[in-house]
Amino acid sequence: MKDSKPIDQFVISVVVPLYNEEKNVPVFIERLARVFKRLGCLWEVVFALDPSPDLTRETILKLIEAGYPIRLLTFSRRIGKPLSLLAGLDHCRGDACVVIDADLQDPPELIEQMIEKWREGFKVVIAQRVSRKGENFFYLKATEVFYWLLERFSEVKVPRNTGDFRLLDARVVREICRFRERHVFLRGLTSAAGFPSAVIPFDRDPRFRGRAQISFIGAVNIALDGIIPFSRIPVRLIFILGLVLTVLGFGSGLVWLISCLFTGFSDRWPIVILCILNVGMTGMILTAMGTIGEYLVRTYEEARRRPLYIVDQMNESDTLPRRLSEPPDGQNQ
Ligand code: UDP
Ligand code: MG
Repeated sequence: MKDSKPIDQFVISVVVPLYNEEKNVPVFIERLARVFKRLGCLWEVVFALDPSPDLTRETILKLIEAGYPIRLLTFSRRIGKPLSLLAGLDHCRGDACVVIDADLQDPPELIEQMIEKWREGFKVVIAQRVSRKGENFFYLKATEVFYWLLERFSEVKVPRNTGDFRLLDARVVREICRFRERHVFLRGLTSAAGFPSAVIPFDRDPRFRGRAQISFIGAVNIALDGIIPFSRIPVRLIFILGLVLTVLGFGSGLVWLISCLFTGFSDRWPIVILCILNVGMTGMILTAMGTIGEYLVRTYEEARRRPLYIVDQMNESDTLPRRLSEPPDGQNQ
């Protein structure tokens, strides 16, 4: 449903995780300010800063003095991008929130299209990279494998080639903040929260200044956090492999025994029995591990305490029967 409220009555929050971005922050905020000037709405930036050895903090403090609408969160230690994002979402107050990197790989100008889609009624607007400049071949291949695994393994649908760059309606932000998980994967949590979403394609620029702050190992950790909390398939695979090996081992043993009844036992029967027992027993151990894994997954699911469901809207007709204990209208003050 299209929102008809004038744009100047909205506040848009922008959540930005930062680490060592002193050279990018001034250009970033200028481009952002230009975008919001064109849009004509109120805005705030929540900088979620991992304490950096460079002058990122000092640079932001100067921008605050210069009058930019900034809330700066500086963490007590480096907690990494995923948790920084969650902290940023916890501290934003707008009607919608845009999550964006500080290095200008995600163009702030795309926010205009995102807001347009949001006002059309999409509570989630995800930016999708159609091209990625300045990233090496090996890294791009690794991300392809990641999305391949994610598509097959994950219980929630995450659109391909999407990072954390997205707009979330305040309602979605509230719901995502209810998922108190240590291994935050915003893309998965957004999908887990649900709500109507739209995708906007864009060309990802190279970093404006400096080197990538997330190492390859860091990216692999994020990828694992994207799959493990959203999938029970790895455990299922162990269980299925176990069953297959058990049937194969003991089944082939049975076939061998029957054939021996007709042809007689060869001299090598101890080796054959050893092989059969080896395969069969490995299968049984894997099946047992898979079974224990199923219990572990369930325990893990309970421990995460994710919301069991989220009601988007509730419509009630006037003719619903009133509960007998409920006082009539106007008598409950
Ligand atoms: N970042 C952060 N904490 C870290 C590493 C990175 O807040 O420990 C921020 C970084 O400053 C940037 C965003 O996360 O704004 C994305 O980092 P980077 O550009 O290194 O990642 P990539 O673009 O390769 O995904
Ligand atoms: Mg980057």
